[in-house]
Amino acid sequence: MPRAVKLPHVSEDIHHPYRRGAGPHGPTPQPWTSAPQQPPAPQRHLAPQPPPVHPASTIPISAPPHREPPDPTSTPSPFPFPAPGLPPPTLSPPSLSSTSSSQPRHFHTREMFHNAQGFVINNPQFIDASHAGSGLERLLRYSMPAAFHDSGVRYPPPKCHLGTRNDYIDLITNWALEASDRKEPILWMHGPFGVGKSAVAQSCAEALERMNKLTATLFFSRSNSDHDDPQRVFTSLAYQIATVCPSFGEIVSKRMIDHPALATKSLLKQFEYLLVQPLSQVDIAGSGLNGRVIIIDGLDECCGTAEQCEIIKIIAASAHERTTPFRWFITSRPEDPIIRTMNSPAVYPARSRIELPVSRKVDHEILVYLTDEFKVIREDHGLPESWPSEEALALLVERGAGLWIYVSTVIRFIKDENSFGPEDQLRIVLEFAKDVSGKVGPDNPLAEMDFFYTLIIQRVPLKIRTTARKILLACSTLSGFPSSIAATLCLSAEQLRRACASIQSIMELRGSDFESMSMNFYHASFLDFMKDPQRSKELSIHGDFLIACRRELLEWLYNVCSRSTDSEHTTFPLGTILPEDRLAAGHYQYVWCLFWRLSQIPEHPFDSQTARSLAEFPFRKMLRLLGDRSEWRIFGGLVRDNLPAELRDEVVQWGRCPIPRCMYTEDVWVWGHGENAIIPILSGNGFISMTNQDRCDGRCLCGAWMQIAHHERQNTDIEDTDTEDANDDD
Ligand SMILES: [Zn+2]
Repeated sequence: MPRAVKLPHVSEDIHHPYRRGAGPHGPTPQPWTSAPQQPPAPQRHLAPQPPPVHPASTIPISAPPHREPPDPTSTPSPFPFPAPGLPPPTLSPPSLSSTSSSQPRHFHTREMFHNAQGFVINNPQFIDASHAGSGLERLLRYSMPAAFHDSGVRYPPPKCHLGTRNDYIDLITNWALEASDRKEPILWMHGPFGVGKSAVAQSCAEALERMNKLTATLFFSRSNSDHDDPQRVFTSLAYQIATVCPSFGEIVSKRMIDHPALATKSLLKQFEYLLVQPLSQVDIAGSGLNGRVIIIDGLDECCGTAEQCEIIKIIAASAHERTTPFRWFITSRPEDPIIRTMNSPAVYPARSRIELPVSRKVDHEILVYLTDEFKVIREDHGLPESWPSEEALALLVERGAGLWIYVSTVIRFIKDENSFGPEDQLRIVLEFAKDVSGKVGPDNPLAEMDFFYTLIIQRVPLKIRTTARKILLACSTLSGFPSSIAATLCLSAEQLRRACASIQSIMELRGSDFESMSMNFYHASFLDFMKDPQRSKELSIHGDFLIACRRELLEWLYNVCSRSTDSEHTTFPLGTILPEDRLAAGHYQYVWCLFWRLSQIPEHPFDSQTARSLAEFPFRKMLRLLGDRSEWRIFGGLVRDNLPAELRDEVVQWGRCPIPRCMYTEDVWVWGHGENAIIPILSGNGFISMTNQDRCDGRCLCGAWMQIAHHERQNTDIEDTDTEDANDDD
């Protein structure tokens, strides 16, 4: 059965969570015209194509068709680049296989490296590794080199500003070096959106690489199709292990040649055939692989929650059984499936956990970052020492509110070369930061954050996306009390928790029942984004979505008013299912309140049909059903502004009390018209949801004395106080 708050007119969002490219409103937002110099905006497509595999000569940017294959002996093999500190690769004997003479396997230098990024050729030693070459080439084709920590595609990668985040970097490197109390082979760091997890992971990768303690890295990126494929996780790791351990490389290469379909197997089989079995044939102690670290950053951005969980389980099982010699550092947002898997009995004993929270404790680090970045910009552009002002810096730290991505996004915007220069860009940022409404103009300093926010909402499963958006609408309009939100939307605590679980990278819902629940958004910019249809487009909770919600709430209120008698006997329409009885009392009040709050949000005019329904609304009954338990303030002027001119006076107006013989001479708010009119009690610029109507002691609805004879006034004291029309009697 449908819930009370149902939106028959709201079109469902038709973005598939993982669909890229064109949506109903054109391509996925790519607001890159002004800000981006950072991922996610790869303009180059350097990563290998997934299967089906083309013949080598047809792979894009491969060697020209008729070019002579180069002499293998003068061509670098794919893995003769030992990492410092590792034994040099052994020289393989010349291949004696029968096929090698009749059908020599060659590889093209350009093919070999056309996807490879970030290689440094140290002391190259050339070996005949034609088998290895073609096998590793195949492996590379099934890998995600663009997601390696030193990939050119990711350059410059986000990393911690010098002198910041040292506590976390030390903690992680100490774990990696087995110099801390944390002995578990898996270290999981979780934190919400924008808190800087990838920067910490990148800084750790670079630190561990300098210590020869790094084996392989994968930085997932949902916004980039070359960075999020679960099928290419273990191939990527195997490829990188091959580059630091040639004996492993030879084994894996041969396997890839003998079993060309290996890379298309299930994740578990890939792990077994490409990692576990080859490693079992390697002299681990002599290879230098023992205890080396593999970093997997942003596991939640890997495509598919089932795959994310499977990857964790496979790694944990291997760590538990010691079938691989590595230590695994994994980062992710605190998403439900990952949390459940990490806490499962199979994984829990093998992992240690750290949290990277959004915290104002990093304000001083953010100030250091901003100060240093502005210094560089100032020197580059010959700007005076006084730029930017201390107030500007303080405002940016304040608006950053502990969220690294906010300040790094702002800095990239200020540095944007396609602009009138940093001074002008900073002016735009400051205007934006000072504006409490958070609305953007044509220059959006937070375009990059908006892109991430869009991805987060698009990933909410369609089944619960409308509910999630209603929760956000209620949060931004009412209070952030979970029980109020649930009472408004007819949600149980569990339903609320599940709907919020899909957006917990930007908000936090603690507790499992209403008594203990609290709700918190990590950064104000998210609701600003969701409220601005210019930024969040068809995902916005304002605009058409708000108007449809409001229409639906009004229909429901109308229905309740026509079925109910008083606040003690409220009858809800069929289909209103309250998951808990305790919510019933508040349900009408919260729906009522949400409707009126939505009615006074500027720039959201009523359509003529809804406005006409509102003009005919039974205001007196509406208020009577509210009872005296709640007192909400309403700004009549804002509601009027959203109404068509010809209906304004019928819904709400400021003027003389319309009740005949009322003695009041000042202006009052009049809500409704004719027999339905009520005179609510003034409050500030508006009025509250109460009248003096029940004080039938001879006063008007507005509370003023009526022109009435003394003996009649005495009689009214014993009359039924529920008779509203008593005052109209002559
Ligand atoms: Zn009056």
